[in-house]
Amino acid sequence: MNDTFSIQQNVATIKENIEKSCLIGGQDPKKITIVAVTKYVSIARAEEAVANGITDLGENRDEGLLEKWAAISSNASWHFIGSLQSRKVKTIIDKVDYIHSLDRISLAEEIHKRATRKIKCFVQVNVSGEDSKHGLPMNKVASFIEELSSYTKLEIVGLMTMAPYTKDEEVLRKCFRNLKNLQQSIQSKHYSYAPCTELSMGMSNDYMIAIEEGATFIRIGSALVGNEQ
Ligand SMILES: *Cc1c(COP(=O)(O)O)cnc(C)c1O
Repeated sequence: MNDTFSIQQNVATIKENIEKSCLIGGQDPKKITIVAVTKYVSIARAEEAVANGITDLGENRDEGLLEKWAAISSNASWHFIGSLQSRKVKTIIDKVDYIHSLDRISLAEEIHKRATRKIKCFVQVNVSGEDSKHGLPMNKVASFIEELSSYTKLEIVGLMTMAPYTKDEEVLRKCFRNLKNLQQSIQSKHYSYAPCTELSMGMSNDYMIAIEEGATFIRIGSALVGNEQ
């Protein structure tokens, strides 16, 4: 146990860092959404984050999402951030506001079929091309988004990526910059169903770099709510 752990302090630190990174990257701090990733922590920790002003919670598995949602539901917006099996869509669809892991047409079809209201979706992109990473390769993203026009329950709000696991700042920057360039090229097409104005990128170890490079949704677990596992 680390007895100096404080979610209140973590939120304050992250907000200060967001301010700094926005200054460097020329962004408005108000446009950055902090998604608190609660997959490694208890309901109590997730509730504590909400009590400290966090409005968005993220989970990467359906069980975790359902458990947290049952306890906290209407006090937050809910983000599904993990790879999503089509057969799990119906169990989470009425609970989530955002899905960050859209990566195939069959999943879009299932979301469209099950949703009773608009679901904001990020297309997940495997920028680095690592085999271990989920998401579409960069060169498949534009045609994939073109194919989504008939799935009217989905709104394609932006692109999401997980950076490679490295401390090499240049590698991280390049990954985030590539995703930003792709996002801008899709945004410039002005698809009504895919405004694609947002970038979900940056986690505990790299969110400052991600914001400098244009992130608008950062997904932060351990640096915010800790890790109880
Ligand atoms: C776990 C997870 C995060 C948060 O990870 P931390 O390093 O703890 O901040 C962000 N995004 C996804 C997709 C995750 O699975």
